Amino acid sequence: MNADNTGRKERGGGFHEAFECDGCGACCGAYLIFASVEDARREPRIEAETQRLGDWLETSRWAYRLHPLPFHDSCCFLNAERRCSIYETRPEVCREFAAGSEPCQTARAMRALPALAPLARESAGEGGA
Ligand code: SF4
Repeated sequence: MNADNTGRKERGGGFHEAFECDGCGACCGAYLIFASVEDARREPRIEAETQRLGDWLETSRWAYRLHPLPFHDSCCFLNAERRCSIYETRPEVCREFAAGSEPCQTARAMRALPALAPLARESAGEGGA
């Protein structure tokens, strides 16, 4: 979930805060992480290196567990530099995770990291998402 994800969040008065991921990797170890069959088609390492859920647990979105797995304190694809080793083909759930969101800030706090600071403030009528 790390690398160059960005996120936006509306605050009171129609202003938006923009965030840029600083690659801390905290989100890659803070939550349950699952990937879909479609994700595994895109990235073969998911099938080879993660845990397939039983048929009775599988859904269209969740078929493989990436975290937690035995002997890993974060996702098995987070490398020693705390960067995603499958970034270009990472699961959809990782693509959806927004830098600066409440789950992002919570994950940082769990690792005793400071809150991610916004890059800039923009008016909603001036290009805000
Ligand atoms: S696949 Fe990559 S981005 Fe997703 S949780 Fe694992 S290390 Fe993080």
